[in-house]
Amino acid sequence: MSLVHLLLFFGLVIAASSTPGSRLILREIADQKDRAVELNTSNFDSVLKDTPAKYAVVEFFAHWCPACRNYKPHYEKVARLFNGPDAIHPGIVLMTRVDCALKTNTKLCDKFSVSHYPMLFWGPPTKFVSATWEPQKDKSEILVIDDGRTADRLLNWINKQIDSSYALDDQKFENEHSLSNLTDYNQISQAVYDVEEATAEAFDIILVQKAIKSSETSASFIRFIQLLAAHHLSRRCRKGAAEILVNYDDLCPSGNCSYEKSGGKDTLGNYPICGKDVPRGYYMFCRGSKNDTRGFSCGLWVLIHSLSVRVEDGESHFAFTAICDFVNNFFMCDECRLHFNDMCLSVKTPFKKARDFVLWVWSTHNKVNERLMKDEASLGTGDPKFPKIIWPPKELCPLCYLSSNQKSIEWDHDHVYNFLKNYYGPKLVSLYKEKSVIGRKEETVPATGDLTVATNALVVPIGAALAIAIASCAFGALACYWRTQQKNRKPRRSWN
Ligand code: FAD
Repeated sequence: MSLVHLLLFFGLVIAASSTPGSRLILREIADQKDRAVELNTSNFDSVLKDTPAKYAVVEFFAHWCPACRNYKPHYEKVARLFNGPDAIHPGIVLMTRVDCALKTNTKLCDKFSVSHYPMLFWGPPTKFVSATWEPQKDKSEILVIDDGRTADRLLNWINKQIDSSYALDDQKFENEHSLSNLTDYNQISQAVYDVEEATAEAFDIILVQKAIKSSETSASFIRFIQLLAAHHLSRRCRKGAAEILVNYDDLCPSGNCSYEKSGGKDTLGNYPICGKDVPRGYYMFCRGSKNDTRGFSCGLWVLIHSLSVRVEDGESHFAFTAICDFVNNFFMCDECRLHFNDMCLSVKTPFKKARDFVLWVWSTHNKVNERLMKDEASLGTGDPKFPKIIWPPKELCPLCYLSSNQKSIEWDHDHVYNFLKNYYGPKLVSLYKEKSVIGRKEETVPATGDLTVATNALVVPIGAALAIAIASCAFGALACYWRTQQKNRKPRRSWN
């Protein structure tokens, strides 16, 4: 038995009295004081596979080790630069740690030949997935960080690796990585994780606010979840939504949901809509240059646009109703939801064409932009790096413009439609890497194409049924579910 294992054994004995609670990884990073992401055997591969960060640092430590305890503030100082909602340089380095004193992590630590604590590794996150590391193998892309004893030295080491000049006292508002030039067509591909994060955040808000309060809000919630199950761009969000749908009658009997996360009981809180490991606190495309700008509401817009371009003609009116009702019932910004509802109510004829719906969402968003342009200019509340504009600007889509002057723009709607379809369709998902969550063998989702579950169908039932079927859920439960929903569903709007 090696010295490390002996120490580990004694450490475990000491630690046995204080069992550390399991943490919900990146999802809860925003709530944690610690910024380094705690990994363990069960989430190690998935977190490192899914992170949008380009590099990862993995610290193997033992919670009983005094040197590790003393090292923690140093590691955290660096982690604070890169991780969490207030990161100065987000999306570049994922700082993680694995507690080797936990018995469940023994094999994981062995795979990396951990010989002392703390021991730090560096590499592209995906290179850690299913990896092993041995001291003699110098071909590996995983490197041991041999000079990271203090925060300064660790950051210097990282700076040398990636040819950067980050400093511990970098300020958030001088964040050179926040995207200020959104006229770059390719930047939307970074929003794919924002859409997942906004979806998870919207769902969390519903849980925290216990917002499903009536049969009306319950029906609205179901409709939106149906839309997500069929057309969310992320497979794990589609799967999470489908699971909620199938179990909804048990989670919310007669619309009375139990929200708390509970070990034993089946509750809505136990069904994270996009799975447990959705990156949180990143908002890359939607990251503001100030703490309180952009983020969630920007992510929500991108989600709405991305849904709009994925529905078929026959589903367009259902999608419209689902989105309007969702915003009206669950977007906890009174002004936003009231304005948006007015614009929804101004639609007098049901949508028959997906194209019309896509263009309606676009022009509605522009109406919001136009109003906010004035408000933000007079109140100084906007994000200085992201002033509101009528969108898309010419730089992004010259062909969308037939003519324009100071007062008005004449749009070429065919070009606008094609532009939106591509921008929020294939372009948005072009960087996406995601493990199949269907339970078959691992596969990488192709960059484009398959992320939409196309349904030409009679909208609701078939759209969600497809997603549910994809998620390999039982058809019996499905049939039963639909029957119940069909019985309970009352139309909310009349279209006379
Ligand atoms: P956002 O407006 O959030 O846009 C996000 C991204 O979408 C932009 O960066 C751009 O790339 C793209 N985009 C911009 N315009 C369009 C368009 N027309 N079509 C397609 N893509 C576009 N705030 C208020 O203060 N008052 C309100 O009444 C209000 N209503 C809202 C209603 C809804 C449904 C939502 C989701 C948000 C609302 N907000 C409102 C918030 C506001 O619209 C912005 O989301 C917020 O100010 C952040 O702005 P942003 O700069 O991140 O860009």
